[in-house]
Amino acid sequence: MAAFVGAFEFETRPVMAEELAKNLFGAEKLPAATEPRSFGFYSKGCFSGGVAIPLEGDTWTVMRPSRNRRWGHPAMIALLEKFSRDAEADGWPGLLLGDISQPRGGPMLSGHASHQIGLDADIWLTPKPSRELTMAERENKSARLMVDPKTHRVYDRLWTPQHTQLLKRAASYPEVERILVNPGIKKKLCDTVTGDRSWLRKIRPFWGHDYHFHVRIGCQPGSHGCKEQAATTPGDGCDKSLAWWFTEEPWRPNKNPDAPKARDIMTMASLPKECRLVLQAPAPVSAEAVTYYGNGRPPVAVAASPEPAPTPPGTIGETPLTPVTASAFAPTPKIGIPLPRPRPGN
Ligand SMILES: [Zn+2]
Repeated sequence: MAAFVGAFEFETRPVMAEELAKNLFGAEKLPAATEPRSFGFYSKGCFSGGVAIPLEGDTWTVMRPSRNRRWGHPAMIALLEKFSRDAEADGWPGLLLGDISQPRGGPMLSGHASHQIGLDADIWLTPKPSRELTMAERENKSARLMVDPKTHRVYDRLWTPQHTQLLKRAASYPEVERILVNPGIKKKLCDTVTGDRSWLRKIRPFWGHDYHFHVRIGCQPGSHGCKEQAATTPGDGCDKSLAWWFTEEPWRPNKNPDAPKARDIMTMASLPKECRLVLQAPAPVSAEAVTYYGNGRPPVAVAASPEPAPTPPGTIGETPLTPVTASAFAPTPKIGIPLPRPRPGN
């Protein structure tokens, strides 16, 4: 009888609303152990083949480690590692890294509209202290606010030539397409940078970003489902478009403050269809196995279960979403397990 009652209850239960994408992606602890590919757009997508940056290196520390947002496309993670070393050589004492992406990207339970396809990273404008931070400090230490919220100008006592050099270095990498900063920071650069000003084109004013800056790289080879962002307008951006930020208009109170954010209502149906496969794909054996240690120590993203998964990984475009059995960085090693088809354009 109990079974009959159960069936009856099932039939009369109202259709469940489709689960929110942020809950599904926010619950993932490990990446999809498949080829690195970004699907969709920075603010509406997901990615596979993610790797992690270690919690600590000689030239960086990951902040808020409990959020588990130190994942990115291998190109993003490799860039951050290189950037941290270059910045140190320039005289910046090391990077404090903020959020990159969740293990499989997607919308987050809190913060950020973007950071969904493994190609965005936040970096603090506060340098890394010379001593090692405790885990409690990494979770709780505050960043230094660099911009006066009333005047939207940087605090001159806090801004240094090293801050300028740090942003210039970040803009120097060809894969970096945009760097988001507070309008006050953009204005400071416009007012003070001499000589080569071409890199200012990549520095884009945006709300927030007053204690950190946001580095965005372009779609990477092999990511056919990755939607490119519009190109930045020519010129250094120190023009009317910047002057607008110093009018009242951008700072008027939101007329509809209770409207839900896109991130909070996005369902799987609003993401690229490949994102379902990204959620179903096998995970690597551990986070450690897909952590990028830089020079000479690439991770080997072997799927935890080399047997076919209960749900087949499926096919995306011409390229199967195959469990990766080799490193995302190194040439394919000679090992006796099936290897993914070579990636086009990479
Ligand atoms: Zn960001």
